[in-house]
Order: sequence, then structure tokens, then C-alpha cells
Amino acid sequence: MLKSKLDHLDLFDVRSELAEDELMVRESVARFVDEQAIPLMREAFEQHTFPRELIPQVAELGLLGSSIDGYDCAGLNSICYGLICQELERGDSGLRSFVSVQSSLVMYPIYAFGSDEQKQRWLPAMAKAEAIGCFGLTEPHGGSDPGNMKTHAKRDGSDWILNGSKMWITNATIADAAVVWAMTDEGVKGFIVEKDMLGFTAQEIENKFSLRASITGALFFDDVRIPEDNVLPGVSSLKGPLSCLTQARYGITWGVIGAAQACLDEALRFTEDRILFGRPLSHTQTIQIRLADMARRITAAQLLSLQLGRIKDRGELSPAQVSLAKWNNCRAAIDIARDARDMLGGSGISAEYVPIRHAMNLESVITYEGTETIHQLAVGRELTGVNAFG
Ligand SMILES: Cc1cc2nc3c(=O)[nH]c(=O)nc-3n(C[C@H](O)[C@H](O)[C@H](O)COP(=O)(O)OP(=O)(O)OC[C@H]3O[C@@H](n4cnc5c(N)ncnc54)[C@H](O)[C@@H]3O)c2cc1C
Repeated sequence: MLKSKLDHLDLFDVRSELAEDELMVRESVARFVDEQAIPLMREAFEQHTFPRELIPQVAELGLLGSSIDGYDCAGLNSICYGLICQELERGDSGLRSFVSVQSSLVMYPIYAFGSDEQKQRWLPAMAKAEAIGCFGLTEPHGGSDPGNMKTHAKRDGSDWILNGSKMWITNATIADAAVVWAMTDEGVKGFIVEKDMLGFTAQEIENKFSLRASITGALFFDDVRIPEDNVLPGVSSLKGPLSCLTQARYGITWGVIGAAQACLDEALRFTEDRILFGRPLSHTQTIQIRLADMARRITAAQLLSLQLGRIKDRGELSPAQVSLAKWNNCRAAIDIARDARDMLGGSGISAEYVPIRHAMNLESVITYEGTETIHQLAVGRELTGVNAFG
């Protein structure tokens, strides 16, 4: 039988495009995921808990705020951040979500818009996981339209009084601090709300069928008094939270490749071992076409993310480019996960195999940080110059 010399999960040899330090980051995260994370993720998913015992090792590896220069952070480039996301999500989207939120949605806005004191206080602690953060933008009445924000803050002397609520917030109940976006008379501002502030509560959302190995919750603010020192001074418009989302969405484009690779890997093994009608399933034309289609989609996604990372490192990234990649790669990954699940037959619904868990997780990943429709409309707006959201 012909044996391919190509890497089945990297047909265009994207690895050969990586610099020495990028390869080292990928390998060390891959080892951590294979040895430490994967053995815990299935049970965590079944138990609907986040495996918090992994947090110290994630911090030890320098994966929190890895793109930030200084403040005890690793100062890695965008390709490294992407590779971190890819390897973590090969384990489980919940693990990657934890790192994405802490890095791109909490540490990044403090770094980009915070005061020196805020940076000194929070960034080294968050890099070491001594403090966990969450990001509150989405509200119960509709996350796709953040301009219609109801959560608001009013000045009261040198403090602010915050009222409102946020929904679907990753890390909500384990966070020491929430970066919360609220409407004010001076525009949209970011508030660092600390967990023991009076009037602030977080409540876990239970019974999820997706991202079960990730904590999701709601945040409530009832006349929470926030000192001016906890307001991010560098931003007063929706551009603030949207720029955080651009960072996180970039990481997602890489992350979902990892989930898709895990599913293709499982489908390849399963269809080679499964004997039906006297021959391995993988020897049939239909199965080979489906496997080939998975490899085609993964390859396209890898090349898209690699180029996106290079553009990002040149400082030329446009949100529409990130939208196109988030849409393309999430769609590819969820289709691959669902198809892999089907190719495993009845076994495909068992937790013994990874595709069903990835498929269920990807239902969240294709929805959060902008739904597929929202990203399609963002690309459409770029092409036509017309906003068709309304
Ligand atoms: C597990 C999980 C974790 C999350 N973590 C966070 C977090 O940490 N922080 C945070 O702030 N948010 C978080 N989110 C929220 C997430 O970003 C939102 O769910 C998402 O933006 C969609 O908002 P929504 O759920 O309110 O849906 P809606 O905005 O109500 O959308 C409902 C449907 O309408 C479609 N739609 C919207 N606008 C249009 C339009 N103009 N034309 C046609 N169709 C349209 C959408 O595509 C979707 O299909 C998380 C969500 C999940 C599921």
C-alpha cells in the first residue's frame, strides 16, 4: 500500500514556516496538552467543571498574557499566541477559552487602556494566575448589538455607581476581577470590578450542553461603587471592547484548527480499524472523499491563520480580515467535528471518542465573539461599504 510521507494534520507543512522559538512554544504546549490536559478534559466535560488544577501549569508555561511585553509576561509574537491556542483547543475548547479570556479580554485591555498603577497591580498577578479575570460585554437582551448597552455608570463625586447585568461570561464565578463595559455620559467605559465590591454578584449558568469544561456565568451590578482608580483611563468608546475581541478572535481562528485536527486524527484511526463489508472503512471512496475534505478545510484554515498572524505582527491587522478567518475556520471545524462524529457511527456519540465533545464545544465557539452571521456581515460591509446589520 502507498504510504504518504506528508503529515496528515499538516499537509502543506505549515510547521516548516515556523521559526525556532515558535516551534518550541508549540511543542511545549502540545506536550502539556497531551500529558496533563487531555487525561482530565473528558471527565471535566462530563462533570461540567473546569479543571482548575491545570491553572498553575498554564501559568508556569507562560501562556497567560503571552503576547504582552513586560509585567512578568512572555512577550511572544502573534504566531506563538496562535499556536498556544491551537494546541490547547486540540485538548478542549474550554481550556483554550480560559486562556483566551485571561489573555486577550482581560490582560490586553488593562495593558492597552489601563493606568500604570492598574498594569502594575493586575498584569504580573494575572500572568502568574494569582488573579483570574473575566470580561463582561454581552447583555441578556442581545450580544450581537453591544451598542445597545443597558449597563450604565454615573459619576458620584470621585467614584462611579454601576448598575446592570452581563450574561454568558466565561470565568464569571472564579474571577477576582471583571473588566466590565458600561455606558456613561462620557461614552462606553471599562471598569475593573473586584469580586468583593458591595452590590456585585456572579452566578454560574448550569446545564450547558456545550463548553461544559468551562465556567460560564451572569454578572449583576446593583449600585456598585467603583473608585476612579478602577476605571480604564485610555478608552471611552465601543472601540475599546471591540479591539479586545479582535485579539481574542484572532486566537480562536487558530484554536479551532486544533479541535478539527483532533477530530480528523480520530476519524483516520477509526476508519482504518473499522472493517465493514470485508474491508476497512477508510478504503471506500465516500469515506476517503470525506477525509480529504477535512484535510482540505484544515489546510486552508492553517494557511489563513498563519498569514493573519504575519499581518498582525506587522501591525496591519484589519477587523474584517479577522472576521473572515473566524467565520471560515469555525465553520470548517464544526463541519469536520460533526462529520467525524458521523463516520464513527454509534461510537461517535460516545465520550470515549473526541468528535462529539469537540462538536458540542464548537457550537459555542461559532457563536461567541461574534456569531457566524455577524462576521459574514462584517466582511460584507468591508466589500460594499454598507452596514447591513440593522
Ligand atoms: C459559552 C459562552 C461563553 C461566552 N463568553 C463570553 C464572555 O466571556 N464575555 C462576553 O461578553 N460574552 C461572552 N459570550 C457571549 C457571546 O459573545 C454571545 O452569545 C454572542 O455574541 C451572541 O449574542 P447573543 O447570545 O445575545 O445572541 P443574539 O445577539 O441575540 O443573536 C441571536 C441570533 O441572531 C443572529 N443575528 C444577530 N444580528 C443579526 C442581524 N443583523 N441579521 C441577521 N441575524 C442576526 C445571530 O447570528 C444569532 O443567530 C459567551 C457565549 C457563550 C455561549
